[in-house]
Amino acid sequence: MIDACSLESKPLLSVEEALDRIKAAVIPISDTETLALKNALGHVLAESVYAPINIPPDRNSAMDGYAFASRDRSQGQEFTLSLVGTSWAGQPFLEPLQAGQCVRIFTGAVVPIEADSVIMQEQVQVQNQSIHFPANTLALQNIREIGEDVNLGSCLIAQPKKLTAVDLGLLASAGVAEVTVKRQLNIAYFSTGDELTPLGQPLAIGKIYDSNRMMLGGLLSDPGYSVTDLGIIPDNKQLLEDSFIKASKNHDVLISTGGASVGEADYVQEILRNCGEVDFWKIAIKPGKPLAFGKIGACYFFGLPGNPVAVVVTLQQIVAPALRQLSGAPFSTRLRFLATSTTALKKAPGRQEYQRGILSQDESGAFFVASGGAQGSNILSSMSQSSCYIILPKACDGVKVGDRVTVEPFSLLI
Ligand code: AMP
Ligand code: MG
Repeated sequence: MIDACSLESKPLLSVEEALDRIKAAVIPISDTETLALKNALGHVLAESVYAPINIPPDRNSAMDGYAFASRDRSQGQEFTLSLVGTSWAGQPFLEPLQAGQCVRIFTGAVVPIEADSVIMQEQVQVQNQSIHFPANTLALQNIREIGEDVNLGSCLIAQPKKLTAVDLGLLASAGVAEVTVKRQLNIAYFSTGDELTPLGQPLAIGKIYDSNRMMLGGLLSDPGYSVTDLGIIPDNKQLLEDSFIKASKNHDVLISTGGASVGEADYVQEILRNCGEVDFWKIAIKPGKPLAFGKIGACYFFGLPGNPVAVVVTLQQIVAPALRQLSGAPFSTRLRFLATSTTALKKAPGRQEYQRGILSQDESGAFFVASGGAQGSNILSSMSQSSCYIILPKACDGVKVGDRVTVEPFSLLI
């Protein structure tokens, strides 16, 4: 088997080299905005947040039970305390606790100052206002201390961080109502190709439906990104050039699919060369070789291949890290691990391949992967049925049953 790569006149950039070029070229946006916490999911924190209060702010109970002072305990013997009130969550018991007294307490309720211990309700016996504690009652248990989660003034979340739902919860627990984040990225995408038909229209002979834009919309759906679908642009040089220039003026990133290769109607990299700069074109990746990266004015441009599987692979593996960096988030890597292949996999040396696989795990926790089926870059059905990439390095010349391979679970959100 000959890899198309071996026919190239000069060696192609490896995936790592392409990512290094992107890392060097992409300058994170500096504009910030202040958002209400509930609107900040997926935005990149631009200013670290320090805790304005202790969390928890009060000493409170970790159990439903009875709060008491350990000085009232008779060590190694049963003892009885008299019940003088209840501390509810949100409604503390405010009177001083005298010697020999205890209070009924619920989870999250403030522990009276004089008390230093809570016993679970299941461990005591209640007789009217008398509470009988067992001989093995432990002191100093079941109390959540002030600041045990976060101390007043300590860093709650350091910038830069793409805020998760848990981060928002943590900020809310400290009473933080607003955050300063990087502004959203403005991203536009379009499909190119005379054969493309939008959904809802009948399919004429030789035409196909446009699946790429549907996938790009889904893959780019991220609260940190404001995304515009610019539709289908036919294979017309002038129209394409005009569209590139117009869209580059009011977007941070422009993504096209199709027309990136070397066919007679493949104009994308030629136009990029005319109206902007090409940083690189073509990388040693399969699928997805004819990927073009450059700039038109201040707008970053990614010309993705037309084949749908190549679009997903290059968007996730090459474009997504660039978008993260541009948005100000740390350049992150995706979770990868080794699995044992249960199928033989064909591969020629020359390009790093992202084959589709189906991941499984046995009772001992060991991972196995089987081929996800046909691997053509146009075969979306096998990608839909698969659950991971099987990443085969450039030099690999095939996989035998039982070989260990690197896998990366799919997450179709970036
Ligand atoms: P191209 O890069 O324009 O030569 O396209 C490569 C292959 O991808 C061709 O078979 C195209 O028909 C197909 N293709 C291009 N754009 C799309 C699209 N938006 N949706 C589905 N297939 C596409
Ligand atoms: Mg085309």
